[in-house]
Amino acid sequence: MYEGNDVFLWLPTGYGKSICYQILPFLFDYKLKREGLHPSKRSVCVVVSPLISLMVDQVKTLRSIGVGSAILSGNTGVDKSLLASENNIKSGDFSLLFSAPEAIISSDRWRDILTEEPLCHQVVAIAVDEAHCVYKWGSKFRPSYTRIHELRSLLPADTPVLACSATVTKAMLKNITQALNMVDYQLVHVSPERPNTCYQVQKRTTIENDLETILTDLKFNSIKATRVLIYCQSLNMCSDLYAHFRYELGDQSYYPPGADKLAANRIFGMYHSGTAHHNKDVIMRSMADANGIVRVVFATIALGMGVNLIGLNTVIHYGAPRSLEDYFQESGRAGRSGEQSCSTVYWCPSDAPKYKDTSDLHRQEVVLVRTYLENTQKCRRLQLLEYFIGDSASKNSPDNMCCDVCNDSNLV
Ligand SMILES: [Zn+2]
Repeated sequence: MYEGNDVFLWLPTGYGKSICYQILPFLFDYKLKREGLHPSKRSVCVVVSPLISLMVDQVKTLRSIGVGSAILSGNTGVDKSLLASENNIKSGDFSLLFSAPEAIISSDRWRDILTEEPLCHQVVAIAVDEAHCVYKWGSKFRPSYTRIHELRSLLPADTPVLACSATVTKAMLKNITQALNMVDYQLVHVSPERPNTCYQVQKRTTIENDLETILTDLKFNSIKATRVLIYCQSLNMCSDLYAHFRYELGDQSYYPPGADKLAANRIFGMYHSGTAHHNKDVIMRSMADANGIVRVVFATIALGMGVNLIGLNTVIHYGAPRSLEDYFQESGRAGRSGEQSCSTVYWCPSDAPKYKDTSDLHRQEVVLVRTYLENTQKCRRLQLLEYFIGDSASKNSPDNMCCDVCNDSNLV
């Protein structure tokens, strides 16, 4: 990137993609000093990110270690102290500026500030985090994603782009790099295989039946129970599972025994778009701590990208996932420490994804998910890997730790 080359980081979840763009402005500062140049203002990396929650987390973390960073946004729901202002941008307070594509493409205010002298010469790179959003959302929901290349044309010609994603396929890679005008880019790729994760698909029956083991574990082992993340495909489903656990566990829902019936004392939690910020914080802080008391979380996609959950080796999808990309990314939250982990989908044909719209992309996603779930013959790991990395996929796990299909064939 020193030479102005574009780079695409196609690395598995948890591989440290963020640190690659977070460190960029400092590497450029170092380079300039080594070359005898001492610019009065620091180098800046502009990070395009899909979600305000991701930006907030990153800015808070970066500031806690003394890295000047801020968000370009007029969002009134965000803590004002995390937002950039024209004055503190111009005075050179920040090394990293985070923004949704809409803010820098569709808002004249931020685009003008970024592309005017002298700031445009301080911008040393544009990072596009979660770059699969260019492909998935660009054509329909968030058209600004397909216009990020316009920012390139407004900055000095040698400003490189760093695109990062865990969940792309070869076809998506081509589409994204074309949309971002990435010519002769360097690809840094590590296979997304997680040999320590076992993939399973089971028929969904009743909540009582399917989740009995987890409930029993909580009843008898309380805060020593296995940590489980349960992805629900709707807010209603999330509420139903949560209500079932609260009813069955009663006073045992809280720790220590006899504790006040507060969210902070509950050993399971619910995380969706309607969950109060305070309760989301309680759950996330607990799940980021190996000894946190929260053992089971019922979540929707609101518990999204960029969250690090500690000691989590079991992920369940209760209901069919929306796409193989989402499934692979969400199941990748298990087993981060290298321990044997398990990812199970409970589904029945009635909850398989339906054709919500007629776009080719959506049809393709539905077909792929159905094929994956209905399959009983082919190794699930190979199915996933072939989809993401093509013919070079290979299976490196023993049958009993690979998937239910391999395990069943081994038993015959
Ligand atoms: Zn297998």
